[in-house]
Amino acid sequence: MMNRDDRVRTAILRHALRARPINREPLAAETRLTPKDVEEALGALHEVGAIYLRDGAVVAAYPFSFVPTLHRVIIAGVTTYANCAVDALAVPPMVDESAQVSSACGHCGVPVTVAMRGGRVVEAQPAAPVIFHPDRDCCAPGPAVLTRCPHIQFFCDHDHAARWRDTHRELRGALLELADAAAFAGRHFDAAIRAVREAGDDHSRRSRAADRGGGL
Ligand SMILES: [Zn+2]
Repeated sequence: MMNRDDRVRTAILRHALRARPINREPLAAETRLTPKDVEEALGALHEVGAIYLRDGAVVAAYPFSFVPTLHRVIIAGVTTYANCAVDALAVPPMVDESAQVSSACGHCGVPVTVAMRGGRVVEAQPAAPVIFHPDRDCCAPGPAVLTRCPHIQFFCDHDHAARWRDTHRELRGALLELADAAAFAGRHFDAAIRAVREAGDDHSRRSRAADRGGGL
């Protein structure tokens, strides 16, 4: 059984995955918690950096953004947003369906698209994009969504990443090949990915049970 904060976080991630807005009351109903518990969980999740609240609204629940960003993930026709390039690569492993990550080169702005199935990269356009990932101590202190995420982006290739780095010499970090970035994203968000997938299984089991007219 997940604890209060994990239940609320997983419910938020599942809403984000389907591009549904976050409202307190449905969240309380879904998690079988009181609105007060949900409110406390949101505060606690913000404190540990699992979500980012602004004026009481959930703006980000890593890897998702609830405000549009450059990094889109399209699953079964539904568009969701991620906080950065690595976050975007952590969304496809949450589902069984094919997913398309859609972003743009941080140097020249041409579209970068990555077709994925689970954690596996199926195809990319351009063929071998790279991802800049800043070091831990690269950026000003503060919420990742404001400090680190803006720098974590796709580039067409090593050449375009190098040109961008020439003009951002203050940023320390590494360039990741696409497959390595996808693997890193899967590891970094492993717990969230598994929680979302397991919650999905529970939901389909419950609806199958309801179809048979049986209870839980
Ligand atoms: Zn480019």
